[in-house]
Amino acid sequence: MIVKYFAKAFVLALILLFSSAWAQSKDHIQLMAVSKAASNQSSLSIAEIVETDNSEWQLQTEGANHLSLTPGVNWFKVQVTNGLNRAAHAQFLLDTNLEVIDVALYSHSPILTPLPLTLLANHQYSGKVQLNPNTRATLYLKVNTEISAVMEMHLLTPDAFIEQQRQLYYTHGFVVGGIVFVGIVFALLFLAIHDTTLGYLSAYFIARAGLLSVLLGGHLLFLFPEQSALRGADLPILAVASSIFYILFTARLFNLAKVFPNSKLVVKAIVLSLVAYALISAFLPVHINVTVSATILTSVLVGLVLLGYYLYIKRQRLAVLFFTIMLAQLLFTVVIVLGYYIDIPAFSQRDTLHITSFSLNTLLIVFLICRLYFYQMRDKQQAQKEALANAIATKQAQEKLIQLQDENQEELEQRVQERTLELHIALSELEELNRELAEKNTTDDLTGLFNRRYYDQKIVAEYRRSKRNLTPLSLVVADLDFFKQVNDNYGHLAGDQCLSWLAQHIKQSLKRSADIGCRYGGEEFCLILPDTDAAGAFALAEELRAAVEGFDFVYQEQHLSLTISCGVATYQQQDGIEPEHIFCAADKALYQAKRNGRNQVQVQEISCDLSIQENSND
Ligand code: GH3
Ligand code: MG
Ligand code: MG
Repeated sequence: MIVKYFAKAFVLALILLFSSAWAQSKDHIQLMAVSKAASNQSSLSIAEIVETDNSEWQLQTEGANHLSLTPGVNWFKVQVTNGLNRAAHAQFLLDTNLEVIDVALYSHSPILTPLPLTLLANHQYSGKVQLNPNTRATLYLKVNTEISAVMEMHLLTPDAFIEQQRQLYYTHGFVVGGIVFVGIVFALLFLAIHDTTLGYLSAYFIARAGLLSVLLGGHLLFLFPEQSALRGADLPILAVASSIFYILFTARLFNLAKVFPNSKLVVKAIVLSLVAYALISAFLPVHINVTVSATILTSVLVGLVLLGYYLYIKRQRLAVLFFTIMLAQLLFTVVIVLGYYIDIPAFSQRDTLHITSFSLNTLLIVFLICRLYFYQMRDKQQAQKEALANAIATKQAQEKLIQLQDENQEELEQRVQERTLELHIALSELEELNRELAEKNTTDDLTGLFNRRYYDQKIVAEYRRSKRNLTPLSLVVADLDFFKQVNDNYGHLAGDQCLSWLAQHIKQSLKRSADIGCRYGGEEFCLILPDTDAAGAFALAEELRAAVEGFDFVYQEQHLSLTISCGVATYQQQDGIEPEHIFCAADKALYQAKRNGRNQVQVQEISCDLSIQENSND
């Protein structure tokens, strides 16, 4: 089954192969010989050319389909044969360039007929050649050109011609359209991002697309074949425009104003001179414009290659990539230019070289921009990272500071507390000392009772209180009887002991907390009794006297009999009475008690007279 199918397919393939070979041979028209008119025949008409003698024609040495052109009008005689038994037609094609001013073709088989020529989008002029069966025909070709060049001429079958045209339009349209598309994309990016670099790049790509179209043959003259003035008019403008935008893009990309302080001025000068050239290019011959445009494009590339190298040495970012792109572009340009002078088949494939060069340049520039954005993004991320790290560090430092402050605060508070505690202790110690001092100041060491100083302060204070509260104030003055004798008989230590004993009795006799016992001096004691009337004071003094009289004082196994005499005075807010009057009255009473025989209590009315005390003191 499968074998059957294969056999069928094989037979079919054979039929197709033979039929196509037959079809080709069927339309085959051969180019036999090409001759060129020996001298410049610009002044001759076609009729005169046809009449020219055979000796005037030179057979072309460069090959059957190569036409060697010199500036001015060139006439060629082309011999074509149709070996078929039927009439056939072929497509005549002539490669030209911008420097070709005009082309005309005439058929002479057997009558002279002008053949209309069409300019194609690949610099080719095309015309239809019709030949009778088994005939040889002569074609006359007139080429008026500005420069010397070698051009190819072809005869194609109509099918091959259509196929060539199809491929041509597809490839050219695809590449030029692709670059235009990239230009539009960059224009949109520029509008969205407002990055001038992208704006320049957009203009550059659109100019480059135009330039490529012109170089491939899709120029203004192709669009408007009748307007011969448009021939080569677009090339210098596009070459200048693409160069200007390339320079501006580079200046922007590497921020050249920073690298070279004068770069702005230089760029301005270059741009102005290029614009000036573009303006005057309209008045220059096409071949001059072609040369100048090629020179501008090459020079700009050489400049950019050198700049790229310099920036690479300066370790500028993207410089290596930029240098590589410029160098590649320069190499392509050099190869294309060399193709005009050196006969290397690969170099003469101008269209392929242009397409490859322009496509590669577009892709590499797009890649360059991608790298630029990658670096910018990375810088941004790095800056953000650094900012974050800084923020974290700042925060940590602040936290550390706060922690230190807290610690210091705590330490400070602790120290203050310690100091405060120490101060409190010191203060309480001081207070204690002061209290002790005050106590010592007011206490009598021998008896433990208050001393005379205390008495002096207290009697005044109690007097004022009594006066204020309208309460009675009594004072008892007690004195040991015949104490001198005790000292004399038993010694002063015994006397001191007696004073101490008496003090004990006085303390016991004072029932109220407000009562105060003082040693007035020597063996004389004072009892201040606030809020106590004369009767109460007398009773207390009597009780004390009785207690002393009744007590058995034993000193070193010797029984001492001690008695006291007491004088009592009571202040009851009498007019003109001062504390010293109270003491004076009590002292007077004591004196009375002594005089009356001692061991007794006497009461004395208080008077304003202090004289008796003085007498008693006497
Ligand atoms: P009178 O009954 O009149 O009071 O007789 P007296 O001996 O007590 O007489 P006077 O009041 O004149 O004597 C006071 C004596 O008290 C004199 C002194 O020797 C003695 N004396 C005074 N102060 C102290 C003291 O602190 N210690 C001792 N041991 N004796 C003292
Ligand atoms: Mg006395
Ligand atoms: Mg006495």
